[in-house]
Amino acid sequence: MKLYDKIIEETMETVKNTSFGRLKEYDPLAQAAWNDQGSSEFIMQRDTACEIGAAGMPSVNYTLVTTSKDITDDSIYVIGKDISEISKDTAFARIVILKTDDLGEDTDKEKTFQTIRNLEFVRYHVFPAGYMVRVSSRSNQEQVRISKEAVKKGISFANVGALYINKYKELPEVKNVKILFITVKEVVEKLMPNADKVDGITRTLTHILDGMPTDCGHCSMKAVCDEVDGLREMHLGKK
Ligand code: SF4
Repeated sequence: MKLYDKIIEETMETVKNTSFGRLKEYDPLAQAAWNDQGSSEFIMQRDTACEIGAAGMPSVNYTLVTTSKDITDDSIYVIGKDISEISKDTAFARIVILKTDDLGEDTDKEKTFQTIRNLEFVRYHVFPAGYMVRVSSRSNQEQVRISKEAVKKGISFANVGALYINKYKELPEVKNVKILFITVKEVVEKLMPNADKVDGITRTLTHILDGMPTDCGHCSMKAVCDEVDGLREMHLGKK
């Protein structure tokens, strides 16, 4: 699975550009996973310590899947301010990179597509206590309201990230997880177009599974296939 590798490369290049601000990396094994509520909770305005990705601030969320051998461990990255340092409306991006087993795209495209969707849907089943997530799948935004209580108890992106990683690793296909929390506006804005690229890959996979004609010259997905390694092979075969 190398469909998302170029976007992974671009994402990591962007966040590692230190001119945007500090980057911290945490080992999830050294972090206590934040408590999971088991279902969504509503945090009232008066109980809110801060909101991120809301109030018109830039926000983006996307998930990338790879079988790259370069990824050998789990990590949590925080680029910009951590939760306890946020006092006003702030931009927000949460990006997940999942290293999986071979998803068998050469032999069973439908199963591969379904697995990718299942991996993307994990985000709807994580409910960190005092951390209310509002996800818009249509706009690829993620807004989070964090309670005063959670801040008092010491919530951090490292704790929340460790919880997300545990949830992803419940799926047997997932071998390693890298999760990025970004609160630097310039970085969030720079990463936003990647969500559209991920959508383009999903739409093309749907097109391929629908059994659409294999005439690239007249195909509306040509721009995506021209850019993303591996998509054309999925549709037309290795030849
Ligand atoms: S391989 Fe060609 S026909 Fe198939 S989706 Fe891509 S551009 Fe369209």
